[in-house]
Amino acid sequence: MSISTYNTLVSWGLKPLPGTALICIAGPCAAESEEQVMTIAAAMKAQGVSAMRAGVWKPRTRPGSFEGMGATALPWLQRVRHELGIKVATEIATPAHAEAALEAGLDILWIGARTSANPFAMQELAEALKGTSVPVFVKNPVNPDLNLWLGAIERLQRAGLAKVAAILRGFSTQHPGELRNDPAWNIAVDFRQKMPQIPLLCDPSHIAGRRDKILLLSQQAIDLDCDGLMIEVHPKPDSALSDAKQQLSPPEFVQLLAQLQPREHEKAAENNLKLKALRTQIDELDHELLCTIAKRMETVRQISRLKQQDNMTALQSQRWNTILTQMRQEGSQLGLPPALVEEIARLLHQQALEIQLAAGGFPRPNSGGESHPKRDAHSEGVRCQDG
Ligand code: PEP
Ligand code: MN
Repeated sequence: MSISTYNTLVSWGLKPLPGTALICIAGPCAAESEEQVMTIAAAMKAQGVSAMRAGVWKPRTRPGSFEGMGATALPWLQRVRHELGIKVATEIATPAHAEAALEAGLDILWIGARTSANPFAMQELAEALKGTSVPVFVKNPVNPDLNLWLGAIERLQRAGLAKVAAILRGFSTQHPGELRNDPAWNIAVDFRQKMPQIPLLCDPSHIAGRRDKILLLSQQAIDLDCDGLMIEVHPKPDSALSDAKQQLSPPEFVQLLAQLQPREHEKAAENNLKLKALRTQIDELDHELLCTIAKRMETVRQISRLKQQDNMTALQSQRWNTILTQMRQEGSQLGLPPALVEEIARLLHQQALEIQLAAGGFPRPNSGGESHPKRDAHSEGVRCQDG
């Protein structure tokens, strides 16, 4: 976990799982009955979870499926708070939901992926939530658009909300593999960079869509520095009215917690020294990589001049095929993942083409009309060794 954002969650009154520095919000996808909610709340309290989740209003992709019990379920959540003393969280999607949930005194609200994708809905929610000190968690939008997610959070911040956090729940994909949603961890990494002060949880249940992948995804989220988890738990998952395949039974949830490996941010001094040495090595390797790329680009410029003299096209498809084949082969001999090698090859080739098109006086339309001035690594203060 990131020390400061984790501390922020703690300062909002969220207690970590016992013996860990991990916040955990867990409970059923939907509040289905008073008995179900009370059963799960007791089980979650026994595990020391930070808050119980239960959807009251369910945003369903297709109409006709269970859309939540609505306001009928609010007194059940109030009973959980009063009788068991555990915090409760629910999803809001409209100003009317926000008003009802605040009126009921719920402890935490979250905004779902279908709502955070809509700036109009976010703006209306921001207005409705003005002045509240209740923590609001914003799930990533269904589509992999970091700016849309950031914008949803900014709308709440501009309305003056001080307690805003985020939840990574994965992104819809046209090509679902084993998982219901693509975790796109790189977007979480970028999110951290753009909003380093905002706590970030991960919802492995909605990423997975199936219960056998939740442990792996939870561990990956911890290893990627998430401050906590939101997990769906149901007394009888198979007969759940929504998201049946991804909910864990209470014993499965207990087992998951036992198997999770909490990580530490800083280790003992001895390990840190080793880490420091290895990081220095990484910095040197990155420097070499950049120097190599700069040299490659200089070579491309020379090629570009020759091609211009001979009036040749910038793109030489056969040559590009040869490069790609060679790189794939070498990459596989070196044990590098094929997708990585291809991505690097494509980026390098794309850049080479841009240099040549610009030299020919035809900058690509989306390059902002800029030409590519000849850059010299030496002149910009970076020292690259020759040879
Ligand atoms: C949920 O938490 O049950 C839910 C509907 O989530 P999402 O908005 O991530 O689909
Ligand atoms: Mn759900």
